[in-house]
Amino acid sequence: MSQGQFSGLSLEELSQYKDVWVYVVVDDGKLTKPSLELIAAGRKIADKIQQRVVAVMIGYQLDNAVKEAFEYGADAVLYADEPWLKSYICLPYTRILVEMVKQYKPYAFLFIADELGRDLSPRVAYRLKTGLATDNIDLEVEDYFFGPTRTTYKNTLAQIRPDFATRIAKIYTPRHRPQIASIRPGNFNPLPRQPGRRGEAIRFTPTPADEDFIIQIIEEEKVPKSPIDLENAQVVISLGLGILRDGEGRPRSPREGYELAEKLATILREKYGLRVEIGATRALIYAELKELEGIVTKDRQVGQTGKTVAPEIYIALGISGAVQHRVGMIRSKNIVAVNLDPKAPIFEIAHYAVKDDLYKILPKIIEYLSGGE
Ligand SMILES: Cc1cc2nc3c(=O)[nH]c(=O)nc-3n(C[C@H](O)[C@H](O)[C@H](O)COP(=O)(O)OP(=O)(O)OC[C@H]3O[C@@H](n4cnc5c(N)ncnc54)[C@H](O)[C@@H]3O)c2cc1C
Repeated sequence: MSQGQFSGLSLEELSQYKDVWVYVVVDDGKLTKPSLELIAAGRKIADKIQQRVVAVMIGYQLDNAVKEAFEYGADAVLYADEPWLKSYICLPYTRILVEMVKQYKPYAFLFIADELGRDLSPRVAYRLKTGLATDNIDLEVEDYFFGPTRTTYKNTLAQIRPDFATRIAKIYTPRHRPQIASIRPGNFNPLPRQPGRRGEAIRFTPTPADEDFIIQIIEEEKVPKSPIDLENAQVVISLGLGILRDGEGRPRSPREGYELAEKLATILREKYGLRVEIGATRALIYAELKELEGIVTKDRQVGQTGKTVAPEIYIALGISGAVQHRVGMIRSKNIVAVNLDPKAPIFEIAHYAVKDDLYKILPKIIEYLSGGE
């Protein structure tokens, strides 16, 4: 088969696309934490292909955010700073990003996998007729061999994300540019701030178009933040379906399991001064158990479709360790797993494995910690 039967760019055209772009978000004049993580993700790739990280931002009064982007690792900032772009509206933002890409031709364009990134990235990818891999947890640069045309595409972005069942997939879009990917918050650490670090600031001046004002914002209201701060906890104690039965197979009220976890959390907070939160698996939350109504809610979910956490200590109680759960907690520094089943996949990643009944073990841990120093 010839190269011409497949859509995509020629090797010569591909080589014209340079730099790793990251779309960063500004809130109250400052870059958000996931934006700083995204700059670090871009840095990892840019260093491998020896190109620049370009932070892309759209909004109004961006001076401080531009400065911050340099200090956190961007080599250049491409920004559109206009009063009519103060609030996010998908149509003008999409149009401006597409115009920027057409003018500057980036190798890759990364977005945060949050509400805004999930709205914006597919629109941009669709208009540019390129690929999009969503919800990645890591990125690499690899050579990709495309069998039908026997072509090796050098330095292709490998986009790494959980797939069905137990698989982790690598996705490549070797024949299209830019390679667009969204990255789940919590998978990269922001780079250390370097005060005074500077780079090239490129102001992009878009002209407003009629289509930009089809949607208008009448009023904005800030949604109060959930008091459950899993991402900043030092200890996360997570519960799975294992709280429904004890080691003898007798049904237990899930409320009992939750209250034991809360007791442990209280000791760690009050006696050891730690920030502790209770997490849960999707299976436990989706079971919609009456006893846990209003307590074990969606904002406690850890995993692929929940939060990504990386605490000092992650305690997994009655959790099997499905890949969709693991991707949300695998970066925890110390993983303690309590599970009856010695073959449970959670033990593959646990630093401390307790192969026993949580209803036996938890009271002992609580007693130990509340007793001696
Ligand atoms: C697209 C998609 C997205 C998903 N997103 C997420 C996500 O974000 N987060 C998430 O968590 N899941 C997610 N899932 C679901 C995931 O695949 C698993 O089904 C889920 O994580 C399993 O939850 P669990 O470990 O609580 O339950 P189970 O897999 O049923 O495991 C229960 C464990 O408890 C142990 N156990 C039983 N009794 C005791 C006891 N008394 N003491 C100690 N151990 C005991 C058992 O041995 C077992 O290993 C997703 C699935 C899909 C398809």
